[in-house]
Amino acid sequence: MSSKPPVKLDQEQSAEAASARQRPRVRKAGGTSPQVEKALSEVRRKIYPRSVTGIYARWRVIMVFATQLIFYGLPWLQWNGRQAVLFDLAARKFYLFGMVLWPQDVIYLAVLLVISAFALFLFTAMAGRLFCGYACPQTVYTEIFMWVERRIEGDRLARIRLDEQPWNARKIRLKVSKHIVWILIAWWTGSTFIGYFAPIRELGMGLLTLSLGPWQWFWMVFYAFATWGNAGFMREAVCKYMCPYARFQSVMVDDDTFVVTYDHVRGEPRGGRSRRVDHKEAGMGDCVDCSLCVQVCPTGIDIRDGLQYMCIGCGACVDACDTVMDKMNYDRGLIRYTSGRAITDGMTQSQVRKRMLRPRVLIYSAILGLVAIAFVVSLATRTTLRMDIIRDRGTLGREVPGGMIENVYRLQFMNASESPMTLTLGVTGVPELSVATADGGATMVKIDAASNKMVPVVVRAPAGQTTPGLHEIELTAIGQYQEGNSISVVERSSFFVPK
Ligand code: SF4
Ligand code: SF4
Repeated sequence: MSSKPPVKLDQEQSAEAASARQRPRVRKAGGTSPQVEKALSEVRRKIYPRSVTGIYARWRVIMVFATQLIFYGLPWLQWNGRQAVLFDLAARKFYLFGMVLWPQDVIYLAVLLVISAFALFLFTAMAGRLFCGYACPQTVYTEIFMWVERRIEGDRLARIRLDEQPWNARKIRLKVSKHIVWILIAWWTGSTFIGYFAPIRELGMGLLTLSLGPWQWFWMVFYAFATWGNAGFMREAVCKYMCPYARFQSVMVDDDTFVVTYDHVRGEPRGGRSRRVDHKEAGMGDCVDCSLCVQVCPTGIDIRDGLQYMCIGCGACVDACDTVMDKMNYDRGLIRYTSGRAITDGMTQSQVRKRMLRPRVLIYSAILGLVAIAFVVSLATRTTLRMDIIRDRGTLGREVPGGMIENVYRLQFMNASESPMTLTLGVTGVPELSVATADGGATMVKIDAASNKMVPVVVRAPAGQTTPGLHEIELTAIGQYQEGNSISVVERSSFFVPK
């Protein structure tokens, strides 16, 4: 007989073990079916996740810091004397470090969305809702808000008691303090988000001097309110009832996907026991039915019921169960990241990892790799000078004094670089053809950095030297940057010679 002392769950754990197993109470409402009422009561049921420590809890904290460092820090980063990342909707220009993207570059955005979609397919096929558990903004801000809540109101049991007690000075003080901190975080988040679409330094000054425009106020308040509402109140309801990803993930997950799984083969039959008891001899599984895995779950589910779409793969129940296994001197991993097949077939973790490289994963990886390479190459070789030719439809071609045939065009130039350039215009296709600006006869045009310019030009050829009709011509523009390097662009058009 083992001389182990009985397992000691702390007072809070013991007090809640029973209540966590209780089913949510269903209130009767006139005319509403019990099923609907039960579903509604699930939505209304407030979840008080218990704090947990462990390897996955540490990873979640690391991911909160990493994602928020990028989110809050990026708009303040400067590049070539301007904001490094700025989606300037008013000027219809996107600044991404050394790149300036125009509406014509929307194809890159489309390819980026394709890459994101395939990355999501790949990661979900490999590891379920890992993104949800560690990097989704909903999870990250809920983590931050819950951390504030725990600091001010206490852990799970203290919060339950606080909510149940009548309003008094202490409760008002705690609730008001919590909401002040929440609102400050939400406001900072909303302001930062707007700072991706309007220069954040000007926004900061406008905020300090209360001189922002009405739309800036509106969007700032809107995003702050959305953060406060989603992370403070909606929380797991967003993951469970609003997020479409939760609904379609089941088609991407299979028996070999690495997800948070309860090892029912090892854990059942579950039940409380003393550490002195040899549970295997007593015919019991490793689960002591302490309900800690349920108490820490941010979506309030019991992973022992099997894989559920509400599970965001955060690993909190893994950490909680591991602490119980440690106390019981059982092996860790009763709940762990593994595949469903591993549990049923009794596979080792290395066999599970090998099974991850199955055809579906390899196909997703190959497509993702190819699209990503094509994206990077096309972005790196993207031209920074563009020219569009618009013919003057009013007069196709006319004879002007001096015995010349003249056609009028408008050239739309776009300098997508961060440097001003001087363009030298040229034209070929018809003998003795020449091009010059319509207002001054110049063959050189200056264009500012990251800007576009419309230049009316005339193309002329001596009359009588070319047969009447339409002739194909090529207009060229050679751009000389301030730094000395040059770039050229050639576009085709037609030159009309009247009879
Ligand atoms: S699975 Fe682990 S944490 Fe959950 S009830 Fe069983 S022993 Fe407790
Ligand atoms: S079941 Fe576990 S992994 Fe899933 S959401 Fe709950 S705590 Fe996180």
